[in-house]
Amino acid sequence: MKLYNSATHLREDFIPHESGRVSMYTCGPTVYHYAHIGNLRSYIMEDVLEKYLRYAGYDVKRVMNITDVGHLSSDADTGEDKMLKGARREKKSVMEIARFYTDAFFDDCKKLNIKTPDVVQPATGCIDEYIQIISRLLEKGYAYLAGGNVYFDTSKLEKYYIFNEHDEEDLEVGVRDSVEEDDNKRSKADFVLWFTKSKFQDQELKWDSPWGVGYPGWHIECSGISLKYLGERLDLHCGGIDNAFPHHTNEIAQSEAYLGHPWCKYWFHVHHLNTSTGKMSKSKGEFLTVSLLEEKGYDPLVYRLFCLQSHYRKGLVFTWENLDNAAAAYQKLLARIASLSPSAGEAIDTEGAAPLRQAFQSALDNDLNTSLAVTVLYDVLKADIGDATKRALLDEFDQVLSLNLLSGAEALSKKQQEEAAPQADPEIEALIAARAQAKKERNFALADQIRDDLKARGIELVDTKEGTRWKRL
Ligand code: AMP
Ligand code: ZN
Repeated sequence: MKLYNSATHLREDFIPHESGRVSMYTCGPTVYHYAHIGNLRSYIMEDVLEKYLRYAGYDVKRVMNITDVGHLSSDADTGEDKMLKGARREKKSVMEIARFYTDAFFDDCKKLNIKTPDVVQPATGCIDEYIQIISRLLEKGYAYLAGGNVYFDTSKLEKYYIFNEHDEEDLEVGVRDSVEEDDNKRSKADFVLWFTKSKFQDQELKWDSPWGVGYPGWHIECSGISLKYLGERLDLHCGGIDNAFPHHTNEIAQSEAYLGHPWCKYWFHVHHLNTSTGKMSKSKGEFLTVSLLEEKGYDPLVYRLFCLQSHYRKGLVFTWENLDNAAAAYQKLLARIASLSPSAGEAIDTEGAAPLRQAFQSALDNDLNTSLAVTVLYDVLKADIGDATKRALLDEFDQVLSLNLLSGAEALSKKQQEEAAPQADPEIEALIAARAQAKKERNFALADQIRDDLKARGIELVDTKEGTRWKRL
């Protein structure tokens, strides 16, 4: 497989450290609010990557952190902890907020068919690991104490900026964020490993440390958790492109300084979901969630398809019109699959399937070209092979794409059958009769009540000249 590696700026052959095994780390959500569908674009594309690696035969171990402390509202180490902001907004404790939004995140993932990683580790659970790494960085001269905080000294590195080759001035946090500078820093690029002092003294969660009671910086979390579960040589690290700097840059700085050797081989960055006014973000106020899509009547898998239809290294613009197009495409795809009718005992055409399987794999081998992989689904449907082979191939590809192709098609044809000829249901028939009787007795309130109760159960009544019919919504 060829994968674009943002650390080398090249499409490279993907060759993990140990043959047949992949260690994969994903930056998890900061659980101070619901995930927006931009965040979930990153997790969908990472999910496809993980599933494709498994499909290709790798034994993948994937670890994800949950950021429940230390992610500040500015990259310059001067902002407030986002968790604290969330807790204040909802008048709850940080841990309550963390639990609620962690559950909400995994509910969203489930709806989008995103697999839960093998290890999910809240950042607050690994404080000893961070303290050990920071102690070693201080011993090795890569860190210093100033104003009560421990900072990483980026001047000790030969190369600090990994992902961006352009003018370093652009990347300096003070310039990027136009926020105040932290005067304790020896150089602008230095970053906090451990806070005991910040402008915000009401930090709720604090731990004892050799440098005083305080809390870890965000970046050290991902190094600590990854090193704990995946060892000293990581194969693949994922995240949204906004994490490349400073978060991932700092992870590399501290992990390699600590280890004394190269750490992660491949960096996979998903580009942003944008609205017509720019990057979707939580700080901009209104943001789109999976629940909102559902409220508007969209199947969350329509959003998954929408993401798969474009390449992960391109920005993707979200509009309702674009989502409607994906919804129509999904419905059509399911309808075509529903119309397949393999004959009893039909054999699988291995020879006929081979070029289609080849096309699917080469699309994904080519830097995870999911949009091309989706077009192979249509090639399968058009191919001159039997319906049993078509279904088998679609089922196989769905191990990676996770669009519920066969079960969705089955549900669709069941719905269509019910609509065409509703099955006899004595209870509903009795309620329809009771409603007719109520109308006859001019008890319209009762008649309306019966209709509304049925609607709440997903059953719509349609009054026709021949009488009342019903259908499932
Ligand atoms: P956060 O919860 O802010 O820590 O972000 C969770 C993940 O979503 C990270 O990998 C971010 O890089 C990613 N992310 C944030 N905004 C977007 C966006 N608009 N489009 C795609 N990914 C995003
Ligand atoms: Zn991270």
